[in-house]
Amino acid sequence: MSDGRDAGSSPVSLSVDGIKTALHCPRRYEFAHVDGLEGDEDDGALADRIDLLRTAICDALRSGETDPEALETAARNRFEGLWRDHDEGFHSTAQRRHERRVLEATLAAYVERVGADHAAGVVRLDAEAARGELIGPELPLSSTIERPETEPRDEPESETDALETNAVTIDATVDYVTGDGSSIVGVRFVPTLASLGRLRYRSDWEGDVADLFTDHFADDSDAFEPEPIGALFETAVVLDGLRDLRDRLGLGDRTCRYVQIPLADRSTLSVNWIQNAVETSLEVVDLTDVYVDHHTFGMTHDHRNETVDERLAAVVTDLVSGSFDPAERWPQIEANSCPDCGYTVCCQEYIAREVRFDG
Ligand code: SF4
Repeated sequence: MSDGRDAGSSPVSLSVDGIKTALHCPRRYEFAHVDGLEGDEDDGALADRIDLLRTAICDALRSGETDPEALETAARNRFEGLWRDHDEGFHSTAQRRHERRVLEATLAAYVERVGADHAAGVVRLDAEAARGELIGPELPLSSTIERPETEPRDEPESETDALETNAVTIDATVDYVTGDGSSIVGVRFVPTLASLGRLRYRSDWEGDVADLFTDHFADDSDAFEPEPIGALFETAVVLDGLRDLRDRLGLGDRTCRYVQIPLADRSTLSVNWIQNAVETSLEVVDLTDVYVDHHTFGMTHDHRNETVDERLAAVVTDLVSGSFDPAERWPQIEANSCPDCGYTVCCQEYIAREVRFDG
């Protein structure tokens, strides 16, 4: 889907997924989110399986069950119906059966690790929310930022120009919103946590996370960390969207938090082939603390980070202005992004590089 960059007098809108793509390569962003071209990538089967779990869990949460056993039963029953209609081309019946067991084990691990607590939190929050929908999947949230001022024009060229705004809306999604003490928590299901890099193992912005962020954008550094930087941008957008949701639903002055839960992490899977039993566990990552900087928090009492927010505004400004040339970061893009890019066949930069090598 194309990001809405030609919206005339309404605020321009971008998706957080688009911004994450642009961190890998702005030309890739242009192909995927401006031109709407399908890339030559194949992670559809995995995404479809995660969607089954996402839907089953959200519908179980919607049932209002908070007892772990009842919640798991509701999720399994819903999953069973979805699985019957799931027509993925497995190699064999045994493989299909195994994948089903893995997904059911993931549901059980979710309920045990956080599901029952989150279900109770949803019920509590829903009792206070002013008729608000807290459960997705893919509950839309958005953050509106002001682009830095550009050169002023003497006279607007048209009425539309006069109405133009510097506001840009960035869209993101979470799968549900739950309550936890004095916080509201946006939860998003993701395939794995591998892309978070060191964010996964840290609980503070100050120190090597701040260094990672600064180095990625420094002119004199070879550092290239699009995945964790994208996660920090996503956290900024989600937290801002949650603050907006909180205010709209009249949920007081709760702080906002953002949590990711992986549903396709096979590293914790254990299979007993004799008993045909599968077990797994889930790691849950709260990205809030690794994003918030104490200085900005002290000034605003909100979970914010001035460094990340300003850089996000700058990246968005570049994209909205149509700046997609990868030349500025070509060595890093060529080494890190081109090898797994789905647009190599139509990319002039990539083709020019190939021709250079062949010649
Ligand atoms: S092939 Fe390389 S330069 Fe071209 S869009 Fe993909 S990542 Fe960017």
